[in-house]
Amino acid sequence: MTHIQATTKLLAVIGSPISHSLSPIMHNAAIAHLGIDYAYLPLEIEIQNLASAVEGLARINNFAGFNLTIPHKQEIMPLLTQVTAIAQAVGAVNTVKRTEKGWIGTNTDVAGFLAPLRKLDRDWQKTPVVILGNGGAARAVVAGCLELGCPMIHVVGRDQTKLQQFQQQVTAQMHDYNLRVHAWASLDTLLEVAGLVVNTTPLGMGKDVLGSPLTSSQITKLPPQAIVYDLVYNPRQTKLLQLAKGQGLAEINGLEMLLHQGALALEFWVDIPAPIKIMQLALEEVLTRA
Ligand code: NAP
Repeated sequence: MTHIQATTKLLAVIGSPISHSLSPIMHNAAIAHLGIDYAYLPLEIEIQNLASAVEGLARINNFAGFNLTIPHKQEIMPLLTQVTAIAQAVGAVNTVKRTEKGWIGTNTDVAGFLAPLRKLDRDWQKTPVVILGNGGAARAVVAGCLELGCPMIHVVGRDQTKLQQFQQQVTAQMHDYNLRVHAWASLDTLLEVAGLVVNTTPLGMGKDVLGSPLTSSQITKLPPQAIVYDLVYNPRQTKLLQLAKGQGLAEINGLEMLLHQGALALEFWVDIPAPIKIMQLALEEVLTRA
């Protein structure tokens, strides 16, 4: 347990809801291991209060930085003094640090998403991608897939207006002309040629724990070399990943993304290499107990 005193620098994760977040466990384990005078708190802040909350945090002299989760990753951007090039390209910020000039925001989700994929021996330039969902995390996934050099990115969503906006914004920000958006009804045809399928919807976690964005019949349409990547990390094996495993497909859950985006955020704040193994053990321990 971190010893909190007057000199302790504060970090936090801001979101609504916030109770599901494992970031405090992961970061406080790292802080304790490094023996640094920091503490990491979960802060539940609703969307309409984000601006006033961030203004308040700026007035707390020992507040060093924060992460953002649902629904704040885009709304935070106009409230910052500076936004890094990667966060601008993605159009979302998940990590903010106090500097002498004000708050600076970056995005570590893209690198986190890529971490497990970079270990695989794949020809990404021959790997078309299907992304399920078109929210904040989907933007980081698009940026990651562009970095890998994937030739075609299909984004599937349930709201036509949001899908069109997603396409316009992503195309403007990332200059990606190989991005197409589709309704769920088109999914079966897309799956037949997919090399990587990424679930960025919350189906499979929380109240939707028994849900899956793909049915047992849809999973059979994927080519045998396809990878199924679920950004959900709790539970570690979602219904979608169970279906993928049953079909003999490669599967990845969201735990490694969580871990790597967290490690990079910690390094951004404290400028010390993150103890990634300690952070991983802390996450695994809490998930085993869950
Ligand atoms: P978000 O901005 O709220 O986006 C969620 C997307 O899923 C939206 O496109 C939403 O559609 C769609 N959706 C929600 N419920 C659906 C349903 N029942 N059927 C079909 N589509 C549905 O959330 P986010 O920040 O992108 O996060 C999405 C998921 O990724 C969460 O489970 C989060 O925990 C996970 N995540 C994991 C990591 C990690 O480190 N592993 C990092 C970031 C996010 P509408 O817009 O039409 O509502």
